[in-house]
Amino acid sequence: MTDILDVAVIGGGASGLMSAVALKLLNKDLSVAIFEQLPRVGKKLITTGNGRCNITNKNLQPERFHSQNPGFYDYALSTYDNFYIESVFADLGIVFTYEGEKAYPYSLQASSVVDALRFSADQNGVKTFLDSKVTDINSKGGLFEITVSDKLYRAKAVIIAAGLFSGGEKTGSNGSVFNLMKEKGYKTVKTTPAIVQIKTENKITKSLKGIKVNAGVSLYKNGKEIKSDGGEVLFCDYGLSGPPVMQISREIPREKADYKIILDLMPEYSFKNVLDILNFRLSVLRGRKLENFFTGMLNIRVGQQILKLAGKSLAQSVDALTKDDIKTVCSIIKGMEFAVTGTLGFETSQVTAGGLDTRQFDDKTMMSKKDKGLFCVGEILDVDGDCGGFNLSWAWASAICASFGVINFLEGGI
Ligand SMILES: Cc1cc2nc3c(=O)[nH]c(=O)nc-3n(C[C@H](O)[C@H](O)[C@H](O)COP(=O)(O)OP(=O)(O)OC[C@H]3O[C@@H](n4cnc5c(N)ncnc54)[C@H](O)[C@@H]3O)c2cc1C
Repeated sequence: MTDILDVAVIGGGASGLMSAVALKLLNKDLSVAIFEQLPRVGKKLITTGNGRCNITNKNLQPERFHSQNPGFYDYALSTYDNFYIESVFADLGIVFTYEGEKAYPYSLQASSVVDALRFSADQNGVKTFLDSKVTDINSKGGLFEITVSDKLYRAKAVIIAAGLFSGGEKTGSNGSVFNLMKEKGYKTVKTTPAIVQIKTENKITKSLKGIKVNAGVSLYKNGKEIKSDGGEVLFCDYGLSGPPVMQISREIPREKADYKIILDLMPEYSFKNVLDILNFRLSVLRGRKLENFFTGMLNIRVGQQILKLAGKSLAQSVDALTKDDIKTVCSIIKGMEFAVTGTLGFETSQVTAGGLDTRQFDDKTMMSKKDKGLFCVGEILDVDGDCGGFNLSWAWASAICASFGVINFLEGGI
């Protein structure tokens, strides 16, 4: 048994590091410790944004967040919004750069975000226990007892920042604390991978494996378009990947339905424009082999695939294309269809949809309604965001929110 800590933070990822840093900035005299199961903190954070870390977004609209209890995140995200988040990071030494609405560290190094948090925590006296997997948390005599291997730590308040399943074991995402909370009677919302690659009928995607195209992507559920996005799509042996595909993936594992994806391979052009372009090519490219019909217009292999889908033989001449063929080809360019068979799993997903049911927590402080002094932040809660800096924004905002809540709790205010 060690001295009594003011606050024990479980998990040294994005929300755990931010919780510890914010607590010390609010009250430097608090004794704060982070318990991290891995040999280093921020293991997932270092991989974010393709190693560049998309820290936040200029437009943190509520529509970009999801939960079975919508609105739970409103207070935290509107109080500790992107301006607040950026000002906290600016004080830690981060300078920002933007790609559209997405904010990144000017260094474009996710490691620098981890370092900025780590340096601040160390400098302000946060104790960090590495290789320290928490296996139990119990409240006893007005304190919390935290079990780490054969050691017991005591704390007046606990912030659980242990994440969920996305990113896989190597990033510490095994859901062990989530399962512990379940055992202790906390209600949960079904967990599924989100921001994840989509599996489709793969005959075509396999033959185009490795090719990237700029496309409009629409997800249809039982014949009705429910989501769309646009950008770089990657054909893979299992189906489709790339930012717009991952952006629209959330719904698929959550509800059984007939899903399909439609790619618009020339999203900047209307159907009529594409038809005109094709008819023009038909008139100027006569005599050319059909396998070269799309040279200079579409990726050559994608173009050949489209002609095959239209029932043409590539060995034929362009002259073999009829007006009807041109219409068919145009329809495929503007709407290449793929039946969806599922998604890849948690290992390659960026976030977990679902988690601890937020109705058990206070939205102004993130404190449990039944265990006073126990706070939960970040991905472990049933809140997830779209791709674009929304999930880290939730990690930061919920952590800052809880830090104010903890201070208030320790002072007897709540
Ligand atoms: C590849 C990838 C790229 C991403 N890119 C972005 C991006 O650019 N922008 C964005 O907004 N979001 C991004 N995300 C999502 C974002 O990383 C997460 O939403 C965020 O890290 C969640 O923060 P967290 O603190 O809740 O959990 P985590 O960051 O996962 O941290 C949880 C920590 O708790 C530790 N832990 C777990 N159980 C225990 C235990 N029993 N005892 C002790 N420690 C424990 C884990 O080891 C881990 O260090 C990305 C995710 C992935 C996988």
